[in-house]
Amino acid sequence: MTGEVHDLLGVGIGPFNLGLACLAEPLGLDAVFLDARDGFAWYHGLMFDDATIQVPFLADLVTLADPTSPYSFLNYLKQIGRLYPFYIREDFQPLRAEYDAYCRWASERVGGLRWGREVVDVRREERGDDDEAPVYRVTAITPEGTETYRTRHLVLGIGTAPWAPIDREPLDGDGSVALHASDYLHRRDELLSLGSVTVVGSGQSAAEIYHDLLSSAGVDGPRIDWVTRSPRFFPMEYTKLTLEMTSPEYIDHFYALPADQRDRMLREQRSLYKGINADLINEIHDLLYRRSVHGLASGLLAAATTLDGAARAVGAARADDPPGALRLDLSCADTGRFWTHHTDGLVLATGYSPTPPRFLEGIADEIDRDERGRYRVARDHTVDRAHSTIHVQNAEEHTHGLTAPDLGMGAMRNSVILRSICGREVYPVETSIAFQQFGAPADGADPAQPAPAHDSPTTRHQEAR
Ligand SMILES: Cc1cc2nc3c(=O)[nH]c(=O)nc-3n(C[C@H](O)[C@H](O)[C@H](O)COP(=O)(O)OP(=O)(O)OC[C@H]3O[C@@H](n4cnc5c(N)ncnc54)[C@H](O)[C@@H]3O)c2cc1C
Repeated sequence: MTGEVHDLLGVGIGPFNLGLACLAEPLGLDAVFLDARDGFAWYHGLMFDDATIQVPFLADLVTLADPTSPYSFLNYLKQIGRLYPFYIREDFQPLRAEYDAYCRWASERVGGLRWGREVVDVRREERGDDDEAPVYRVTAITPEGTETYRTRHLVLGIGTAPWAPIDREPLDGDGSVALHASDYLHRRDELLSLGSVTVVGSGQSAAEIYHDLLSSAGVDGPRIDWVTRSPRFFPMEYTKLTLEMTSPEYIDHFYALPADQRDRMLREQRSLYKGINADLINEIHDLLYRRSVHGLASGLLAAATTLDGAARAVGAARADDPPGALRLDLSCADTGRFWTHHTDGLVLATGYSPTPPRFLEGIADEIDRDERGRYRVARDHTVDRAHSTIHVQNAEEHTHGLTAPDLGMGAMRNSVILRSICGREVYPVETSIAFQQFGAPADGADPAQPAPAHDSPTTRHQEAR
């Protein structure tokens, strides 16, 4: 351990903390970022050749905070000699592989990143004076042993972990394959060598995997089935007035609502970001149609269908289970009926969820949590009880809204975090970018009308509408 106390230590180097490193560098902050992995890698198990990111290139690591930063996507293209092809392509959305390569490029240039360091413990240093700003002691495991860092501010950017409704490990091996979508491309050939594969889930990843398997299966490949708990194979909403919800004023509006109301709204807003790209839904139908013209079976395609459990068919209770297959217990949300389905391969495209970091156990008393144990995240993304020293990235969906995981929000959130750490606004955040108004005006007045001299019946009628 060195006696040095860093201004800022970031745990995790995904796109959000990488963006923070890029924006912090010119400020002269002593910032260090640790990640358990060997280097930057973004969802390689889902890196389809033709997949694009779902936000424009302006949602890169820095541009929306500082368009003059050398770490912009456009500067990356210029440096590698690809700016003109990207310009002529006239498509705002970079390929997923291109975004991954861009982030790796930035990660190889920006200072302060240390890979191969898994943070396992954080403690607050005992300091004589209670009024003194805290210093945190952070322990990381490296291939060579342990390292300890000291820092005044922590920014947790540890992302989310693959989530599945069942334990897949006992189902994987001995003739069957069960994996999470995040591993798909690493084990695609294994799946294609089976007799049948079932994809579970209804998000973009599920649709990409189903499309990829179905296009590759051809005549001799496996039967490909797709079930989802969602009531339908729904498209992601991508219209401009809805995109205005990725605005600072929508976050302010959402943040000010009672927690129950926020939770209810998040459930209702699922289709805004959890659905499938509409073009891909149509491509899937076109593919099924082409296959049907050639007499190829389409397999099972069922929405409103929940995976309740899964077991190896061999040795299971039911005698009619075919050997070597997995038995999936399904239920239909519309009819309430239960049924079973057999498959050799199972792909759980069931999403990602935040995992409570165990390394915070040593300072558990210092973390502000709500009655459900979730972070009580302040508007400036702090979660320590004093709301001044520990920030989170992409862990505040329940307080700041559905845009928490959106790559387009990274630069804005990092501007807010840096304002909190530096005590001054370094990267100005636009306060009002939406044409629409969220919620009632604070003073109750109609913002489209000149202020009335008194509360006339007409005014009351307009408000009621
Ligand atoms: C397939 C896929 C595609 C997506 N595409 C888009 C898109 O197009 N547009 C969009 O807006 N959003 C997209 N998202 C959502 C979101 O933006 C991404 O998930 C994004 O990667 C989140 O970034 P992050 O920095 O929070 O975390 P992550 O990218 O998950 O990175 C977290 C990092 O923290 C490290 N870490 C964790 N714990 C520790 C520890 N204890 N010590 C050290 N390091 C640790 C991990 O090794 C990892 O490198 C996508 C998500 C997925 C799954």
